[in-house]
Amino acid sequence: MTKILFKGKPFTCDGSQSMLDAALSQKVFIPYSCKEGVCKACTVKAIQGTPPQAAQQSLSDAQIQQGLFLACQCFPDEDLVVEAANYMPTYQTQVVDKAWLNESVLRLRLQTPKNFTFQAGQYINIEHDNLVRSYSLASLPEDDTLELHIKRYPDGSMSKWLSDEVQQGDVLHFKGALGDCTYQTEESNQDLILAGVGTGLAPLYGILRDAIAHQHQGSIYLFHASLHADGLYYQQEIQDLCKQHHQLSYIPCVLHGDAPQGGKQGSIENIIIDSLDNFADKRAYLCGDDAVVQSMKEKLVTHGLPTSQILADAFVASS
Ligand SMILES: Cc1cc2nc3c(=O)[nH]c(=O)nc-3n(C[C@H](O)[C@H](O)[C@H](O)COP(=O)(O)OP(=O)(O)OC[C@H]3O[C@@H](n4cnc5c(N)ncnc54)[C@H](O)[C@@H]3O)c2cc1C
Repeated sequence: MTKILFKGKPFTCDGSQSMLDAALSQKVFIPYSCKEGVCKACTVKAIQGTPPQAAQQSLSDAQIQQGLFLACQCFPDEDLVVEAANYMPTYQTQVVDKAWLNESVLRLRLQTPKNFTFQAGQYINIEHDNLVRSYSLASLPEDDTLELHIKRYPDGSMSKWLSDEVQQGDVLHFKGALGDCTYQTEESNQDLILAGVGTGLAPLYGILRDAIAHQHQGSIYLFHASLHADGLYYQQEIQDLCKQHHQLSYIPCVLHGDAPQGGKQGSIENIIIDSLDNFADKRAYLCGDDAVVQSMKEKLVTHGLPTSQILADAFVASS
């Protein structure tokens, strides 16, 4: 049994739960979202004691030096005194525009706060009351606003609030930018597979335009999948990009119903494998629903695409 003091509040860990779950079960609140070590919302700082290495795996050397670690990945083997991390500033922004891209996908455009920097494909953590949720940026740093694509879940605490209550002009708070699913500038001749399901298009749309802005020379294949055709969005915008940039191919995919114009019907991972070859030479960016991202990754690796050539932004849900 280890003893933890978080912001002066004591709780215990018996090894059966992560430090985050132990805190929550003993009514000590640590901000969190995915609990899978992806979103980094539960990053905290050890003031006394050494957190286990496994809780620091996805952090930078500088962050480890500061004693930062992820509470959701921490099964402590010694007593710890822990503080809130404050490892990145909280930015304040205003909603500039709110529009529905289809029946369940909301586009929010936010004012870019002063001093906020990011790379296309990264995500931000929006904070509201005690909730934190990650949303990927669809915009480029040079765009006028920050663009988010948010799927509305009828029971979703954050997505429902953003969809139903937040209005143009309202103020939001977020931390970021985070994530490393970004265009790699040294790969300009490599063929790229950009594949995502649903709002997984958000980071891909940023990465795609970033690759074009960097005058990417290799072919770029964008696969965007949805259960049904009415779940697809930004078709016109992407087709317009295809007309201007001949190295770009757009393959909209649906799991059910007829194949959309210029697209395919079936599971996205099978469509990718059937549409392309020579996977060993390609790089893949995989975004959206966690299960689909994992299944695309497995399929591509089986067909010869090296794991080191895969960058993923898996939308791990909160539990
Ligand atoms: C790195 C990262 C980037 C992300 N980027 C985006 C993005 O760009 N756009 C976006 O829309 N989301 C994105 N997400 C997911 C997002 O952070 C939230 O998990 C999502 O909006 C649901 O949060 P919520 O509070 O509305 O629902 P919650 O209150 O967390 O969930 C309540 C209920 O909603 C339903 N629900 C929630 N998530 C799912 C799911 N994945 N599948 C099925 N049902 C679900 C379930 O019924 C669940 O019980 C990202 C996640 C991560 C980790």
